[in-house]
Amino acid sequence: MVHLYIWVGGLGALFFLFAGAASAQQITCGQDTKIQPAEVREVASGVFVRQGIHALMTNGNQGAIANIGFVVGQNAVAVIDTGGSACDGARLKAAIAARTNLPIRYVINTHVHPDHIFGNAAFLADKPEFVGHHRLPRAMAMRGEHYLRANRERMGAILKTTKIVPPGKTVSDRLLLDLGGRKLVLTAHKTAHTDNDLSVFDETTGTLWTGDLLFIEHIPVVDGSLTGWLRVLGKLERRQVERVVPGHGPVVENWSEGLARQRRYLERLASDLRKYIKEGRTMSFAAATAAQSEKPNWTLFDDYNSRNATAGFAELEWE
Ligand SMILES: [Zn+2]
Repeated sequence: MVHLYIWVGGLGALFFLFAGAASAQQITCGQDTKIQPAEVREVASGVFVRQGIHALMTNGNQGAIANIGFVVGQNAVAVIDTGGSACDGARLKAAIAARTNLPIRYVINTHVHPDHIFGNAAFLADKPEFVGHHRLPRAMAMRGEHYLRANRERMGAILKTTKIVPPGKTVSDRLLLDLGGRKLVLTAHKTAHTDNDLSVFDETTGTLWTGDLLFIEHIPVVDGSLTGWLRVLGKLERRQVERVVPGHGPVVENWSEGLARQRRYLERLASDLRKYIKEGRTMSFAAATAAQSEKPNWTLFDDYNSRNATAGFAELEWE
């Protein structure tokens, strides 16, 4: 009897071991079951950024191509974008755990693109409030499955545990999040880079997270509206901030140069496209020719410029 009891108890312990291992294994980085903390830099007091590399998402880079990070208040942590795979998100979470025991209360997505949202699943266990633009749930519903399918084909096993996690809290204009002695101001923008762009301003340090409303070095990607983006840029240009975390590229303290470079590219693209439309050129001509003079100024130019030209052509044709 005693033996049987021990045996059953042993089975129970074994079961717990397996259950523990299974939940720990839910999110992995490929074959690597140990999650290495992401390399983050404290760009201002309590503001941490993991800078993405300039590349397309691959199995090898774990989708870690966007700038992601977190802000630490007195009572809680807010994550701003979660990266390009559940693995990328889990690595950010490990970087947070290495710095604070405070709970992760908010996970903010700046927009729907996979390199910014694919890490959401890594934070589900923390039960945070997921926050996004009021149009983000619809964008996720329309594109999420396609994003997963297309990227799984290219990235393979690294996306096995990645899933789409929509926001439970949405922003239609402005929203204040209090982390304890520290407020974040979230602003929902009109259609620009996408139709669901959200920026995050940390009042304490004057740090503005633009999401992909601002690209530095990496060519801007037009997935919303070329003319809308130029209008939103006009608003951003009037803002005084201490530093900016762009969606891609280095954190900068003086952002006027970055804004001007991006404006120059978008204006070049728009004026070339308007000229071609007036001349009766085809969309494929525009895709091959528009804004080519900007090529030396941007990384990944050939990966996105013709797509930008195609999107802009379809938009400006109806002006
Ligand atoms: Zn984007």
